[in-house]
Amino acid sequence: MALLDITALDAFYGDFQALFGLDLTVGRGETLAIIGANGAGKSTLLKTITGLIPARREAVRFDGEPIGGLPAADIMRRGIAMVPEGRKLFPSLTVEENLLVGGWGRKGSGRWSLAALYELFPILGARRNSPGTALSGGQQQMVAIGRALISNPSLLLCDEISLGLAPIVIRDVYACLPSIRAEGTAIVLVEQDIVQALAVADRVVCLQEGRATLEGRPAELSREAIQHAYFGD
Ligand code: ATP
Repeated sequence: MALLDITALDAFYGDFQALFGLDLTVGRGETLAIIGANGAGKSTLLKTITGLIPARREAVRFDGEPIGGLPAADIMRRGIAMVPEGRKLFPSLTVEENLLVGGWGRKGSGRWSLAALYELFPILGARRNSPGTALSGGQQQMVAIGRALISNPSLLLCDEISLGLAPIVIRDVYACLPSIRAEGTAIVLVEQDIVQALAVADRVVCLQEGRATLEGRPAELSREAIQHAYFGD
């Protein structure tokens, strides 16, 4: 049984339909990249999974249970955490406080304690008492990832973690992914940076105007097929 099983998912903003009958699975421990141009529906997909946009209950199953349209806090408690686009740190809180916020509402312990996060991102340990907004873009992205991890999710959703960062900084941010995968955490990586996405993903799905236009393992997909799925004719 897949960890996340999405079936015939539609999503709307008022009358505007953003996703059309999407089918998609994520296996336990799998890293799935979702690629697609601006407006393809990538963020909408993540928002329906996390309960920020309504969905039919049966359209999203997690760990065998239907969760579509449940309140976001409920979904998080079940083990799904999101790194939102644009990081969205709390400006008045320190790095450490921003990290701790992610653990609220989740009971029990797990691999990702504060100490473990500071091992994963040593720079955050060094700057634990700085306001989150005093950090560089890459460091803020690390805080956003840590804040999601501290809830010890079995599924981590990442919305464009490379956005607005220089290539060398993207490499630093992406460097945390192998350690997260090694814990058996499944990852959904939404990316416009196709090269990054293909380098780390077990499988890739391309969205175009709310529909999946391509699915496969990176090694099986030709450049032409990806270009066609990404941009259309
Ligand atoms: P981006 O990389 O720009 O974030 P995306 O693939 O994540 O693109 P979405 O943000 O999911 O795309 O948007 C999908 C479609 O839904 C787009 O046509 C977008 O204009 C529309 N949309 C997104 N948010 C809203 C909203 N709050 N109200 C109305 N339409 C929206």
